[in-house]
Amino acid sequence: MFPRIVFSDFDGTLTYGLSLGSFFFDILALIKAKNSELVIVTGRSVSWGHFLLTHTDVSAVISEGGGMLSLREKNNLLCDYPLLPEKEFNRLKKFVALLKEQFPDIPLTNDSIGRMADRAIELAVAKPRLKELSSFMQAHQINYSCSSVHLNFWCSDISKIKGIKYYLANHTQDISIDDCMYFGDSKNDESVFEVMKNTVGVSNIREVVEELTFKPSVLLMGEHNEGPYGVLNYLDYLSRK
Ligand SMILES: [Mg+2]
Repeated sequence: MFPRIVFSDFDGTLTYGLSLGSFFFDILALIKAKNSELVIVTGRSVSWGHFLLTHTDVSAVISEGGGMLSLREKNNLLCDYPLLPEKEFNRLKKFVALLKEQFPDIPLTNDSIGRMADRAIELAVAKPRLKELSSFMQAHQINYSCSSVHLNFWCSDISKIKGIKYYLANHTQDISIDDCMYFGDSKNDESVFEVMKNTVGVSNIREVVEELTFKPSVLLMGEHNEGPYGVLNYLDYLSRK
């Protein structure tokens, strides 16, 4: 059965490498043709999500690793819903000041300006000092996760799966999570792989798949199933069933 809602990670799953191409719009058109909807679930910033909502037919964007939900409401008004208590925003601000003191040579990503629930460091910058950074975060009870592009960190208990559940409970009617599907490619998709029944790993997930405790229920293989090509191939296969 074609999923009632297609939830998908963005970087490495709907982009090929870092590139957004025509395949993204092919995926969106197929989902619309099947009367389904696309909800992006990403580690990118809330302000980045606004762009997609303004310029594409994406139904909602769960951003900052599940910390924020953005969607269009009446009169096309863009609305943001923080999915964690406000006091955690302040705790994060204080931690960022400590991080800058301890690691003055490690900058935050440019898009951290547009972030509310989390902050990010470019993965290429963070990787050589990942051990030190993760110990420092653990010591301050800060959670973190790596996507294909960033080391994201945040306070409180936020995750992609919590964002998905919040969206289903508060912004849909009579749609069971078992009738939905999720596509991902990375370690920051693992909370969804653990809980959702229908999950698909596009073939580039092979680079991290051995590090996952919870794996997607379907693992696509082969170069022709990398990123958005895998998403399109799999949805096309489902649409013909
Ligand atoms: Mg990804």
